[in-house]
Amino acid sequence: MRDFSLLKYQLLLEELLAAGYSLLPVVEFLCTDAKKAVALRHDVDRHIDQAITMARIEHDLRLQTTYYFRKKDIVNNPDAIKEIAALGHETGYHYENLSAHYGDAEAAYSDFCDTLHTLRTITWADGVCAHGSPLSKFKNTDLWDRYSYRTAGAAYELSRDIRYDNVCYLSDTGRRWDCGKFNIRDRVVQPWQYDNIKTTDQLIAALQENRLPDKILLNIHPQRWNDGLGRWMMELVGQWVKNGVKRGVVVGGCWLWVMGCWLWVIGCWLLVVGCRFWVVGFGLLGKMK
Ligand SMILES: [Zn+2]
Repeated sequence: MRDFSLLKYQLLLEELLAAGYSLLPVVEFLCTDAKKAVALRHDVDRHIDQAITMARIEHDLRLQTTYYFRKKDIVNNPDAIKEIAALGHETGYHYENLSAHYGDAEAAYSDFCDTLHTLRTITWADGVCAHGSPLSKFKNTDLWDRYSYRTAGAAYELSRDIRYDNVCYLSDTGRRWDCGKFNIRDRVVQPWQYDNIKTTDQLIAALQENRLPDKILLNIHPQRWNDGLGRWMMELVGQWVKNGVKRGVVVGGCWLWVMGCWLWVIGCWLLVVGCRFWVVGFGLLGKMK
């Protein structure tokens, strides 16, 4: 069975249930009494039709999960959002206003409020979570350093309202489960580290061996999981390219830092040498007089 296929996703859900976890939408996960629980979060970055397929599979398994939608789908695909909500799933806003407005916080906040309102004319939305925008220099969650999402009407924001010392965050970002070391934005500070879990089979083995904590937030991007070979290959190749670009940003940043340090050392050395010449030159000049 291919990894990152819908069949593999179903297998993962079945293994989670077999391991005794309650599978919940985020809004219920935040206040559950269940000892072992997994919040199933879906950031719908692309291909909303894939999100509908995934939502139907979960519905057939009698599961409710959470789908966060970007502005482009809120504006252009309201019927698809309605369809997913009608299957009983929670819906929320996957915001990216600060990067979209190039750091203009006032315009970003206004856009956030308008888009959340538009989503709520389609279906109810309690929560919001940020899109990574890895190629932008602006981090979308920084908007909350200046404004309040609660004032804007959002009941929760995922990076602020979950304590990741209690909840283990696992994401399929980068088409791997260890939140690859070259991921730029999709990571949290948490006590757990799973460098040895890259494939879904390794994740399932960890579940079967009871190596995972009781509370887990699982971030699954629907566009990544395909049964059709064409889209599956496109996603695989696209992710190789993206990982390469991200690797370039991280490694390139390190190189710039190293080069900067060297330039600083060379600059200091030239300054010292220049001062010595200046002092010696002045001494000679004094003697000549
Ligand atoms: Zn996203």
